[in-house]
Amino acid sequence: MKTAYNFNAGPCVLPKQAIENTVKALYDFDNTGIGIAEISHRTPGWEKLMADTRQLWRDLLNIPEEYEVLFLGGGASTQFMTVPANLLNKKAAYLQTGVWAKKAAKEAKLFGETVIVASSEDKTYSYIPKGWTVPADADYFHITTNNTIYGTEIRRDMDASEINNVMLVADMSSDIMSRPVDVKKYGLIYGGAQKNVGPAGVTFVIVRKDILGKITDRQYMNPLPTMVDYRTHAAEEAKNISMFNTPPVINIYMMYETLKWVKELGGVEAMNKINVEKSNLLYEEIDRNSMFIGTAEKDSRSIMNHCFVMAPGYEDKQDAFMAFAKERGMVGIKGHRSVGGFRASLYNACPKSAVEALVQCMQDFEKQNK
Ligand SMILES: *Cc1c(COP(=O)(O)O)cnc(C)c1O
Repeated sequence: MKTAYNFNAGPCVLPKQAIENTVKALYDFDNTGIGIAEISHRTPGWEKLMADTRQLWRDLLNIPEEYEVLFLGGGASTQFMTVPANLLNKKAAYLQTGVWAKKAAKEAKLFGETVIVASSEDKTYSYIPKGWTVPADADYFHITTNNTIYGTEIRRDMDASEINNVMLVADMSSDIMSRPVDVKKYGLIYGGAQKNVGPAGVTFVIVRKDILGKITDRQYMNPLPTMVDYRTHAAEEAKNISMFNTPPVINIYMMYETLKWVKELGGVEAMNKINVEKSNLLYEEIDRNSMFIGTAEKDSRSIMNHCFVMAPGYEDKQDAFMAFAKERGMVGIKGHRSVGGFRASLYNACPKSAVEALVQCMQDFEKQNK
């Protein structure tokens, strides 16, 4: 097979071991002689797989008992609507750090008053805004911890005192499982799997049970349609099954294998350490190399997505570098059209050797073109 260094932003690189084991399970799940896509989701083997996957989430992120872990369909984008449907009684607050955050806030507006506490849209979302205040009467405060398109990240868990004791809700699509998270500080965490925990098609939701079923004043979408109400999917948790309808079985299986791999490597603390190392390696080169500059403000930089453009005076070399990098096997480094230039996504499964190859490629390009 051709050597490719995969820097795609999502869907993206996944652990080889997880891919191999999923392929095996497609032929033969759990020594049944039948593949994972061909069995009933009500067989004990599958129910155990669901329970084991949920337990991996609990173990890796230290998720307390009072939270449910749900695996749903529809992607993170569906959660933009489901979150306010379940939690927005009168007012919600959003920190607008990118188009995903903006899209999330747009859905909230359907359900009630939506306050944008701050936005970095003025500078193409190249920084995380500071100095904002969350209205104390908001039902929740929504953040996007990692802004995949712009390479900015809130890499810490906010304290209640910083956000007026308002319940914190986070879209963690692109940095979940990349670092330890203090789940207790959040009412709800959600995301699409396809950046760090598996293939596209399954969405994770970690939700504190006591915040659900509290919509009293709202007219719109009240009562909730069955599939939209998180309680529908959590109802069978006592039996550790939690499958109201047929779940995306292949996706969940591959998520299970991906999380097993994370656990084997030492869990999220170990992932964080490796991720910081990989990220530093690339940012050091972006900052050192006279032909490139980073686009995100330094104190807002993501350790998952690294955005850079040609430095002033070298703008005309963009296509040449793209071709040069392609020749060296670099895949998926084209920046999002709203930022331009390049973006290298270094998710959990991206090996350090790939980052080293990219750094070498940037150094060689500088030597040949300066
Ligand atoms: C990719 C992404 C989304 C969209 O996820 P879908 O599963 O495609 O709906 C939302 N938020 C963030 C931060 C993302 O990176």
